[in-house]
Amino acid sequence: MLRSVEGSDVQVQGTNDDAQVSKLSCSRMGYFRDEFIQFFVRRASRRSPLINRGYYSRHAALRQLLEQFIAAARAAGKQPQVLVLGAGFDTTWFQLAKDGGGAAPYNCLEVDFKEVTQRKAAIIAKEPALHGLLQQASSAVAAARGAGEAAAAAADGSSTAASSSNGAGAGAAVAQVEIDAAAGSVRSPCYSLAPVDLRDLGALEAAAAAAGFDTQAPTYILSECVLVYMDPAQSSPVVGWAGATFPNALMAIYEQIKPDDAFGRQMVSNLAERGCPLKGLPATPSLQAHCGRLTAGGWAAADARSMDTLYQTFLPPEERQRAERLEIFDELEEWHMIQEHYCIALGRNDRDGLLPPTAVGFDAPPPAHRLSLPALPPQMGPGAAAGAGGAGGAGLSLGLGLGLGRGAAGGAGPGPGPGLGSGLMRPPGAPGGAGRGLPNAD
Ligand code: SAH
Repeated sequence: MLRSVEGSDVQVQGTNDDAQVSKLSCSRMGYFRDEFIQFFVRRASRRSPLINRGYYSRHAALRQLLEQFIAAARAAGKQPQVLVLGAGFDTTWFQLAKDGGGAAPYNCLEVDFKEVTQRKAAIIAKEPALHGLLQQASSAVAAARGAGEAAAAAADGSSTAASSSNGAGAGAAVAQVEIDAAAGSVRSPCYSLAPVDLRDLGALEAAAAAAGFDTQAPTYILSECVLVYMDPAQSSPVVGWAGATFPNALMAIYEQIKPDDAFGRQMVSNLAERGCPLKGLPATPSLQAHCGRLTAGGWAAADARSMDTLYQTFLPPEERQRAERLEIFDELEEWHMIQEHYCIALGRNDRDGLLPPTAVGFDAPPPAHRLSLPALPPQMGPGAAAGAGGAGGAGLSLGLGLGLGRGAAGGAGPGPGPGLGSGLMRPPGAPGGAGRGLPNAD
């Protein structure tokens, strides 16, 4: 099938690699637990404390929302489902499955450009830690479904158990897990990966159906540093499709705001220079504009807060304090400035009263039972020594100051900031990046 790939699509795909390097840096420093991110990073690099803390805040806030959502869905006796847009090499499903002893935390569908999902599927196929977990969780789901269907059939005297909507062979003790690296797809009863260009809503809808999504079930839709790279004429329909399709859902959008002050202008021009312009930012430059996009897209309610606010008011103080002890940190002014330029916008559809703001959202407490284990102590993560040492030469160009002061003068600029999801826009295989004369700060 022919498909035209816009030049900037390639650069935008590169933002995924950059985000994962930063997430690996964080996990090795003990900010959060991610045992799987190591498989997705070719060249580890230790990030600056500013970047690590930024990624920590992004991870912690999004994880807390997700955990609230899962807890609320389970409390209502419903099977949660999660759609990750532009998922890149997101490892959340795998980590939560591992932390849950091999049980699927939810039915997950991740989508991204085919070039990205091909790489992800190949890594999942290659790494036993990943496909083993997938097989384990899938078999448990299939066995539970089989038991449920047998019980239902026995109860109504019928002997014909309905087959699973995703064709995974409901009732089988060993579920079918299909990993097709060439197609960039993974199919299983509880985790699917599909090549979808978000500009093609038909493909998105078909992928959701193929993953066995039930539009009426509680659904969490995550867009982490994705829609902002799209033209608003193409991203708004995605928001609208999600709002119209799932009546019991939350949509969490993490991305940049405030392009119009000095810091924001620097952020915008750095990314444009790297070939991945923040095409969506002019249409959603503020918290209000984010809420407006969600409600215009049919979401019943919307809330948006800056990361500076969320860090202080949403994250539990004891978790924050633990993270703050991990590294020496004296860039408070830059920190607040960066955090003010990122936000999470939350759309809510709660037709059945399963996802009230008292249980899920910025004013709700963390769930009593946290799904993720506490992060490892600093420097104790797998490969910590390699991570620290691995900074090596890359450390010369990475993790420099981000602010408008020294960093900007040096060309580092605010970059995409800690929310970044962007940053190194190096062509694949290009050494360093310094050779392009472009800042590498992210
Ligand atoms: N969400 C991940 C990756 C962020 S990088 C994380 O936060 O770690 C941005 C991702 O969005 C890339 O993987 C890129 O390929 C994807 N993306 C951007 N535009 C897209 C589109 N039109 N269709 C599908 N994926 C897209």
